[in-house]
Amino acid sequence: MALMPVAEALAQVLADTAPLVTEDVALADAQGRVLADNITALRTQPPANVSAMDGYALRADDIVSAPVPLTVIGEVAAGHPFAGRVETGQAARIFTGGVMPDGTDTVVIQELTRRDGDKVTIEKPAAKGRNVRSAGIDFRQGDVLLAAGRALSDRDLMLAAAMNHPRLRVHRRPVVAVLGTGDELIMPGGEPGPGQIVYSNGFALTALSRAAGAAVIDLGVARDTLDDIGARIRKAREAKVDVLLTSGGASVGDHDLVQKALKAEGLDLSFWRVALRPGRPMMHGRLTRDGSDAMHVLGLPGNPVSSYVCAFLFLVPLLRKLSGRADTEMPTETAILGCDLPANDERADYLRATLELRDDGLVATPVQNQDSSLMAPLAQAGCLLIREPHAPAAKAGSRCRILKFGF
Ligand code: AMP
Ligand code: MG
Repeated sequence: MALMPVAEALAQVLADTAPLVTEDVALADAQGRVLADNITALRTQPPANVSAMDGYALRADDIVSAPVPLTVIGEVAAGHPFAGRVETGQAARIFTGGVMPDGTDTVVIQELTRRDGDKVTIEKPAAKGRNVRSAGIDFRQGDVLLAAGRALSDRDLMLAAAMNHPRLRVHRRPVVAVLGTGDELIMPGGEPGPGQIVYSNGFALTALSRAAGAAVIDLGVARDTLDDIGARIRKAREAKVDVLLTSGGASVGDHDLVQKALKAEGLDLSFWRVALRPGRPMMHGRLTRDGSDAMHVLGLPGNPVSSYVCAFLFLVPLLRKLSGRADTEMPTETAILGCDLPANDERADYLRATLELRDDGLVATPVQNQDSSLMAPLAQAGCLLIREPHAPAAKAGSRCRILKFGF
């Protein structure tokens, strides 16, 4: 079976994948959730002309020959409008957020005034409209300010609240089941026996899934037997998760049983070999679930770096698509290459690279050892540096394309 290009593999993962159903959530619970509808302002902000400062509301025409005394006829604070009208020769004491009284058009800050009883002397003229926020300068009722498919930021929640929405319609969170495989794996904190290592992949995969907006079910670590792997696959199915994420057991060795176990459960395989480094034995397929859409299965390689890079490249876009996000793919950026690179072969390379901000820009330098088992350089790296299949040799200082971690 030929290796599948990365773009084609990703297209297969995303094909026929519709956003999950929608639900209503309270604003306080909506951070990171993806809007199912366009959100329209239910009110105008500010709803009236208001003062931007503490000072005096007046008519600019009255103070062209300042210094000039005016009669203070009332006071306006935020939430306490002034019912009367300010006539020529008059002013109203006003505080930030106070509604401009009828007849006024300008606010002079208190620092430029002298108060004496009900008189205030304005010391300098001011341009008409100074220190006034006009009605609707932020937004107007009916404006569409947040579009469907947007993942809600902290600032979006502020805006949605200001638009007077107590709840928002969002897509259901995808649920990911994370399953490790391997007789050699023990949990962190344990006492490794001969030949044993510590289970690490799942911790990054869980954190990455959550960062991409998913809820995670931990299916633990299966022994390298068809029975144990099969039992845990069935658990994922019963839990009706949207994505089953396995790691390890994905090559063609005698102990690499994941694909076999999945096939025994009825896997509809899309691919299992990608023209990618690290991560060639990356697999995708679908498993039907009772009464609902098929569950995606991403079979990640066991080597920690490969598992992470594959999840970054395939799982994150899949979770975004399931979440209803309009921006399914993560944007690549350009950087300055920090060292010479040789020509590439037929597999796309995703080099772990450190990032350094220099005077001439952002410099990406691949770490020395690109072995797919090395977790220390992965943690040091700030990005993946992308080398297309058959990319020609590249010189230090030339432009390169990167995919930043910590999206
Ligand atoms: P496998 O695909 O199962 O042959 O795994 C490839 C390599 O990755 C082996 O050295 C495994 O010990 C290692 N490995 C597999 N799964 C994990 C895991 N969850 N955490 C850390 N290392 C793993
Ligand atoms: Mg294994």
